[in-house]
Amino acid sequence: MTEMLFRDNAYLRECEAIITAVRDDGFLLDRTIFYPTGGGQPGDTGEIISADGVRVAVDNTIHADNDILHCAPDTTGLAIGQAVTARIDWERRYAHMRMHTALHLLGAVLRFPVTGGSITAQRSRLDFDMQETVDKEAVSSAINSLVEADHEVKTRWITDAELDAQPELIRTMSVKPPRGAGRIRLLEIESVDLQPCGGTHVRRTAEIGPLALGKVQKKGARNRRVNIVFASPQST
Ligand SMILES: [Zn+2]
Repeated sequence: MTEMLFRDNAYLRECEAIITAVRDDGFLLDRTIFYPTGGGQPGDTGEIISADGVRVAVDNTIHADNDILHCAPDTTGLAIGQAVTARIDWERRYAHMRMHTALHLLGAVLRFPVTGGSITAQRSRLDFDMQETVDKEAVSSAINSLVEADHEVKTRWITDAELDAQPELIRTMSVKPPRGAGRIRLLEIESVDLQPCGGTHVRRTAEIGPLALGKVQKKGARNRRVNIVFASPQST
């Protein structure tokens, strides 16, 4: 199984790794910084460079069986056992980290069950199981206050049994945390939010920058889709 370096440090932009498999649709590594599509967050893009200068573009990253597949339309020049440098498209990933953390804030402000969600580098959304009208101004002001308060964002692990004892931690109805591995990763935004999550996040909420509420769409009688966008472009 691929060692997932992004889990302990989401800020790694590149790493050294060894190719463990080459397929028609991509390749596997012994360790990686590429986040695979999951939990509403898109897979990373980037490239790998071998010691003898072969460069291969990675146009997506996904879970494949029990491993992480780096999707590559052209794997010419790659071979099992090769040492490579893997490098993600950092600007895109960092936007995903800021957006992903922002969705945790949105979920903490609108305390309704979450039925779905999606992240891109420009905008993101959560679907809530709620019938109430969303006060856009109040929600926008509340999430921006949480950003400005610069809360620390941490991960920690608990056992399956500990999670079973605290079912209230799971607010995301559509995305159940993976079970069976014996432990579950929790994302904690100090005094704001605590829930199982395997995604990548920023270290402090101020890194997210100003947010604006986009459209609020009614999707059925008890479903509200709430969109957020970055209020101002922020460079990395
Ligand atoms: Zn998360």
